[in-house]
Amino acid sequence: AQLTDLKWSKAPCRFCGTGCSIMVATKAGRVVATHGDAEAEVNRGLNCVKGYFLSKIMYGQDRLTQPLLRKSNGAYDKNGDFEPVSWDEAFDIMAEKWKATLKAKGPQGIGMFGSGQWTVWEGYAASKLMKAGFRSNNIDPNARHCMASAVVGFIRTFGIDEPMGCYDDFEHADAFVLWGSNMAEMHPILWTRIADRRFSHPHVKVAVLSTFQHRSFDLADIPAVFTPHTDLVILNYIANYIIQNGAVNQDFVAKHVNFARGATDIGYGLRDSHPLQQAAANPNSGKSEPMSFDEFAEFVSEYTLEKAAEMSGVPAETLEKIAALYADPDTKVMSLWTMGVNQHTRGVWVNNMIYNIHLLTGKISQPGNSPFSLTGQPSACGTAREVGTFAHRLPADLLVAKPEHRAYAEKIWKLPAGTVPEWVGAHAVLQNRKLKDGEINCYWVQVNNNMQAAPNMMEEGLPGYRNPDNFIVVSDAYPTVTAEAADLILPTAMWVEKEGAYGNAERRTQFWYQLVNAPGESKSDMWQLVEFSKRFTTDEVWPAEILDANPDYKGKTLFEVLFANGQVDKFEMTEKAKEYGNHESEDFGFYIQKGLFEEYAEFGRGHAHDLAPFDIYHEVRGLRWPVVDGKETKWRFKEGSDPYVKPGSDFDFYGKPDGKAVIFALPYEPPAESPDADYPLWLSTGRVLEHWHSGSMTQRVPELHKAVPDALVYMHPDDAEAMGVRRGSAVKVESRRGHIISRVETRGRNKPPKGLVFVPWFDARQLINKVTLDATDPLSKQTDFKKCAVRVVPV
Ligand code: SF4
Repeated sequence: AQLTDLKWSKAPCRFCGTGCSIMVATKAGRVVATHGDAEAEVNRGLNCVKGYFLSKIMYGQDRLTQPLLRKSNGAYDKNGDFEPVSWDEAFDIMAEKWKATLKAKGPQGIGMFGSGQWTVWEGYAASKLMKAGFRSNNIDPNARHCMASAVVGFIRTFGIDEPMGCYDDFEHADAFVLWGSNMAEMHPILWTRIADRRFSHPHVKVAVLSTFQHRSFDLADIPAVFTPHTDLVILNYIANYIIQNGAVNQDFVAKHVNFARGATDIGYGLRDSHPLQQAAANPNSGKSEPMSFDEFAEFVSEYTLEKAAEMSGVPAETLEKIAALYADPDTKVMSLWTMGVNQHTRGVWVNNMIYNIHLLTGKISQPGNSPFSLTGQPSACGTAREVGTFAHRLPADLLVAKPEHRAYAEKIWKLPAGTVPEWVGAHAVLQNRKLKDGEINCYWVQVNNNMQAAPNMMEEGLPGYRNPDNFIVVSDAYPTVTAEAADLILPTAMWVEKEGAYGNAERRTQFWYQLVNAPGESKSDMWQLVEFSKRFTTDEVWPAEILDANPDYKGKTLFEVLFANGQVDKFEMTEKAKEYGNHESEDFGFYIQKGLFEEYAEFGRGHAHDLAPFDIYHEVRGLRWPVVDGKETKWRFKEGSDPYVKPGSDFDFYGKPDGKAVIFALPYEPPAESPDADYPLWLSTGRVLEHWHSGSMTQRVPELHKAVPDALVYMHPDDAEAMGVRRGSAVKVESRRGHIISRVETRGRNKPPKGLVFVPWFDARQLINKVTLDATDPLSKQTDFKKCAVRVVPV
């Protein structure tokens, strides 16, 4: 009888970018069980251990249920203790601080930090409120820490963001090459698809490249541990091997590829599918210069097998085996990567170089031939990238720096010309610096734990939050280290406590209804953003020249011009949404999620980024964009699969004006910091299977917490012996920036080579980002969390 009382509904998993499809059981207003959806294409009924415990993530004992403001003697005090306040009081003090800062410093004085955990419409609302409402581009997502390098890599090579392939590639590939990725722990469900393919097809090969051995090596036919940063060398060697062995797909290269030297430009262009095609007349726009194939061949010729083996430390025969996978015309290859490539001071280049070898061989955009950039957050693609939450972007790949792109956004948003500012906002690491320096004074953090996630946090993070000139607001479901550093904490509804949509790594958009109510006074991020917009009139935040030229906008609230604008507020709630309960839409008096989604979708429809109508997504298990005439797209840029490909062209990289992708000649460059006499070890940071990112949810699930309670210092037994420590010993891991104290692990799932230690970052009690270096890729502004110099000493 108890089982028949359960109501089962669909939702995607709350955690990683895999986007597993989940069935969620509710009873008496609580989520009581979850399981993988057996019908779902992504995960076929499976979940990883985090997914199995989804039903518990909302019920941690310290769930936030009321706004909390630092106060003493009844008034706000930066050094006071947190006291419960009403939403009105919370928004009052926020609005007072925002208005004072906007008056004193203009839009440059405020900032926002979000993430790929925002639902699609939350990220869209945040971007619109900041960029059009407050006229500030100082908004960035923590995708900056995660995949900014992948984004810039896509734009440079293809002129358009996001993978051309999809998860169907797993069942077609003959070889899988993991570049710095530990899929066995970070994308375990996709790893089961690789394992299934490998075990059921004996000819299939798996190559795993990393700076240390981890669980993915258990399946590796070709294991390769390389010296940090020498992936740049290995990839150039493989390009050289392909050329030297006559394995270039000459026909493909002649028709579909340009070559370029010059490493600094980002490049941008959308061809005739978009009204903004004039943005890039030159396929190698910016500072890159065209080069010939012969010149490229000469450039990579210096990356010989001997040089690659010597610099990388990988045996020559292993490098040859990996190169041969790409060079063999009969082997379909899927390359996979995430943080090992993206968190790299030359992460953009490494992305470009992986595309180089797929383009040289024509192994792209076909089943099983797929360079595939994985994602870490549930909607890193669907929200962080696609709706324009980066400091330099607008929805659907548009850029704030381009006048025609801003005008296009203003037209869709029905806003006066000049509303969206042209300046590129501060990226994540720069935001922390500007907070520290008092250049940004009002700062709102939603759905992330940046104080734990950001590099060099004691020198570059905390000082900004505690700067007496600054007012910091953190919206979260739990009291994270970030929330504890704030002035005001806003309690936030999570996952199925609100209606939502996520977009996963294969361009699949998935929806869910609100299934339960949030505890106490918790509200969704979207509600918080939209309610806050009611506190401002255009006269308070827009310059007189815009209002004088557009008097209809005078005296309106930001809510009226951004959200009650005749298009976001034009939909009534469907019967289904009412049946499930969607209290926030009921309070607003219109179906706000649908309004925001449909307005956002207008940016991409007809421009190679087509999303299906809102209601369709509630009926299906997700669709991969572009969705044209109700049909999703599995392989982009390939005729017969992608409706945007010019007929007769076979392949068409239409993000570039001439339809050709770009192979870039890019050199090896040393890392920002390397081990030396004082700090003789490399430090690499990363994740563990049982905890999702900073652990703020999974650490509150007793089973997951007990499974992996602490972040250990994984090191080679010989290094431990040389330091006079052994497994279980307490040690200090110290860099030039800070230290943590934890315990040594010389066995187990991670086996670093001599000279390298690995420490996961999920543990709020051992904040390894006190130690990391805040060096970023100059193109993507993404931090290299994978390498800095440390010493380990007994304590
Ligand atoms: Fe799937 Fe990722 Fe969720 Fe695990 S954490 S169930 S792999 S989406």
